[in-house]
Amino acid sequence: MQQFDVVIVGAGAAGLFCAGVAGQKGLKVLLIDHGEKVAEKIRISGGGRCNFTNLDVSSANFLSENPRFAKSALSRYTPRDFLALLGRHQIAFHEKHKGQLFCDRSAEDIITLLLAECATGGVTRWQPCSVNAVRYSDAAPSGEDGTSTATSTSTSASGRYEVDTSLGTVSARALVIATGGLSIPKIGATDLGYRIAKQFALPLVETRPALVPLTFDEAAWAPFAQLSGLSLPVEIATGGKKDSTRFREDLLFTHRGLSGPGVLQISSYWQAGTGIRLNLSPDTDVASFLQTAKASSRKRVANELSSLLPARLADAWVAHSTAAGGSAERPINEAPDKVLNLLAERIARWEITPTGTEGYRKAEVTAGGVDTLALSGQTLESRQPGLYFIGEVVDVTGWLGGYNFQWAWASGFACAQGLAAR
Ligand code: FAD
Repeated sequence: MQQFDVVIVGAGAAGLFCAGVAGQKGLKVLLIDHGEKVAEKIRISGGGRCNFTNLDVSSANFLSENPRFAKSALSRYTPRDFLALLGRHQIAFHEKHKGQLFCDRSAEDIITLLLAECATGGVTRWQPCSVNAVRYSDAAPSGEDGTSTATSTSTSASGRYEVDTSLGTVSARALVIATGGLSIPKIGATDLGYRIAKQFALPLVETRPALVPLTFDEAAWAPFAQLSGLSLPVEIATGGKKDSTRFREDLLFTHRGLSGPGVLQISSYWQAGTGIRLNLSPDTDVASFLQTAKASSRKRVANELSSLLPARLADAWVAHSTAAGGSAERPINEAPDKVLNLLAERIARWEITPTGTEGYRKAEVTAGGVDTLALSGQTLESRQPGLYFIGEVVDVTGWLGGYNFQWAWASGFACAQGLAAR
């Protein structure tokens, strides 16, 4: 049986990064992935340019049952550290929006960097290679003949893991699970990481699609479906008075519902059965704007509104308002104040209740996962000695904007340091 210091399952962002760092610290590393290619999610990320980190990262940019958990790892491997690595590999990048950093050329640059780091660390990579079973063997002699006992729940720190793979059985003193979340199954997402956690009696936080478009009942959405393709900057919020979360980002209307960065962000916080609130004109007091226009203009209300909102949206909202509270389909100087105020209110506070999400098929990430209660924030080792979980499989979910990759790098780095110190 081949022996390694560490077997890492999952050659995505976290697994590749951890493998390179651990290898360069002198550990004998085997990296396994069932895919033909490494890091398919990096390849498709950021529209092919990979939003690999964000200039402004703190634990406030992450969701978790324990919001402080990510702090330690994030502080020990920062965006500056990743930028220094990019500099050593001469990868050009740019800031796009709100601190989000993208490759100038292609996401392939990040994959090439990670593979080069693994090569420097002498990492052995098996691909495609599937994992059939994982066993923990307590290395402490148990019988008179000194043979080991095999159990999946032992807690000895001197044990070893045996991993049955499609390319043979391997043994290592540490096992790192970097299999990611459930999003985009067609490029290789599986629940293996959660199953391994369960096998070792580690708790899980229920998973759900996050950073995902929201959908609506077909009949309720019918009046808005004609706006498909329309995009505008909004403020979007969910939650109650005490726990409200809000983002200022773009909104995109689709045939089935709402998407765009603002909706993806809020989707991670949205609870099924609750509503979302949108201000479609967050920079202008619409009621005052309409009153000012009424005093000096004879244009139709929708025409006036189109200097604040996309014309198609202005038309739809005027029509929408007409149905419920008198007609706004007239010249603005003839529109009653009550009608203009209702229209303004509907623009500043559009409340709507999604019926669901587009699910893991379209979600950028999976919220929930291995409960951080069972993990060390310093090393990502679980309470099962020698078993580590890094990246998206952990209950740490970043906002849109490069935070999920930063978590992959930071958790991978913390884990590699922990492995080297064992
Ligand atoms: P992954 O990168 O998903 O890697 C997991 C690996 O494990 C995969 O290679 C998979 O093949 C392997 N694996 C799974 N199951 C098994 C198994 N049973 N056996 C063997 N191997 C297995 N985040 C950002 O920060 N910025 C972005 O620009 C961005 N864009 C995104 C765009 C899209 C369309 C998507 C879907 C996600 C995007 N994300 C982005 C999120 C980001 O890609 C993930 O959070 C990140 O890749 C997680 O890294 P990971 O290593 O934990 O998991």
